[in-house]
Amino acid sequence: MAQRFDAIVIGTGQSGPPLAVRLGASGRKTAVIERAAFGGTCVNVGCTPTKAYVACARAAHVARHAADFGVRIGNATQGGAENGAQGDDVSVDLAFVKARKDRIIGASRDGVERWLRNAPNVTVLQGHARFTGAHTVSVALASGETVLLEAPEIFVNTGTRAAVPELPGLDRIRYETNSTMLALETLPAHLAIVGGSYVALEFAQVFRRFGSRVTVLVRGQRILAREDDDVAQAVQDVLAREGVEFRFGNAPRSVAPLGASGTGGMTGDVVGTSAEAGLVHPDGIRIELEHETLDVSHLLFATGRIPNTDDLGLDAAGIERDKHGLISVDGELRTRVPGVWAIGDVNGRGAFTHTSYDDYQIVAANLFDGVSRSADARIPAYAVFVDPPLARVGLSEREVRASGRPALIATMPMSRVGRARERGETDGFMKTLVDAQTRRILGATIFGIEGDEAIHTFIDTMTADAPYTTLQYAMHIHPTVSELVPTLLDGLRPLA
Ligand SMILES: Cc1cc2nc3c(=O)[nH]c(=O)nc-3n(C[C@H](O)[C@H](O)[C@H](O)COP(=O)(O)OP(=O)(O)OC[C@H]3O[C@@H](n4cnc5c(N)ncnc54)[C@H](O)[C@@H]3O)c2cc1C
Repeated sequence: MAQRFDAIVIGTGQSGPPLAVRLGASGRKTAVIERAAFGGTCVNVGCTPTKAYVACARAAHVARHAADFGVRIGNATQGGAENGAQGDDVSVDLAFVKARKDRIIGASRDGVERWLRNAPNVTVLQGHARFTGAHTVSVALASGETVLLEAPEIFVNTGTRAAVPELPGLDRIRYETNSTMLALETLPAHLAIVGGSYVALEFAQVFRRFGSRVTVLVRGQRILAREDDDVAQAVQDVLAREGVEFRFGNAPRSVAPLGASGTGGMTGDVVGTSAEAGLVHPDGIRIELEHETLDVSHLLFATGRIPNTDDLGLDAAGIERDKHGLISVDGELRTRVPGVWAIGDVNGRGAFTHTSYDDYQIVAANLFDGVSRSADARIPAYAVFVDPPLARVGLSEREVRASGRPALIATMPMSRVGRARERGETDGFMKTLVDAQTRRILGATIFGIEGDEAIHTFIDTMTADAPYTTLQYAMHIHPTVSELVPTLLDGLRPLA
């Protein structure tokens, strides 16, 4: 006999928990099911732990450059430690960094679980959920027992996991994903990272600042494939100046353990061991690239994400997936099966915490608030949390050019921003594009200090559907990064 609920939420990522609580508050008897850690990717192995590491890496970076500010630490000298010379007196204790991160994410994870368990009308089940029909779900509980639930409304928030490419030799080595990387307690001597997107670049800078040698392996000819060339180049320049090495057009073809394969061994620090995979190879890993051989201590794959839909019984429910495994939804995030929604990364409408949370808000607006909202109206926005951050909203310059519409463009180096000069961090630039006819902002990029905050001046103006002059004539506070946004707009000129 199935247990009857009014609503079932599968997964506790960024949209499932607030939705479950809201469903319960509306009087619906709601079941929420989680098979692993409460809070999902963002809390446990995504945004929160990586940004905790970014903070530690920045502390190390600032300490190395302290002498530039007249602050003396040990024998640090002016100019900091660039181009691989990371010695000085600054070293990073990765076990401490991890313990700090574990405290931060532990508090968030416990908070999500407590919130759900204390929510009125919400029942929490820990186990793996699988559809057995359009409105029935079986849950294999951690206890070994299986229970059957049914509900007229079901919300899928099962997220994604790291994708690892098929590579000869992979079964013979220990490799890292974002999850295992965050469990290391010994600093890699030489970390190779496969991938050129934000996850790869954030880990690259963090571990370089921690003191590892880092080599980023990119299949194509540049990092950040979806960004404009000037933006990608500026980010690459900053990372390269800090000593991150790049190999372009040079993807791995095979991997092998060093030592065990009789190929010699790396000198240097001992690598971590894999309790998970049961593989230990203290001599490191040999990576055969297209054009060279690289010996490293650690190998991290940051090569995209796979939706958690392959073990969800979607066929039994008649729920459609696209060729990537993403669940097809309309603007209100409804699947084709009446009464079933897909929210968060699993619907392919976004791949960020804020898009997942916005999915919750869209569903809640339509279900509870009598407000019609659609994901179709969403303006894409995100940040890459390298330091300085890269923040983006709307269309890139390349996309605007491809659209063929008459447009205006303005750019400004961060060296013109007083706040950046005062902080001694003038890397990067701002760029914006405006529709020449409608005067609406089409997109903006800020690569520079506090760009992740200042970009919201653009996001809010675009969301309000106001002309760019609304932002141009706003009085902003001195001395901030946002202060220069109106000045940037003063410099708009036709896009040639
Ligand atoms: C390294 C890294 C850094 C990131 N940094 C950022 C950042 O700075 N900013 C940002 O906006 N985004 C960032 N992201 C992306 C962000 O983490 C995700 O977009 C966000 O977590 C949204 O996820 P979600 O709500 O779709 O589900 P998820 O958070 O992935 O959660 C899904 C949950 O469903 C559970 N589940 C799956 N299948 C089942 C099942 N069958 N039964 C029961 N439970 C199940 C899983 O255990 C999981 O807890 C980062 C991602 C990574 C990997």
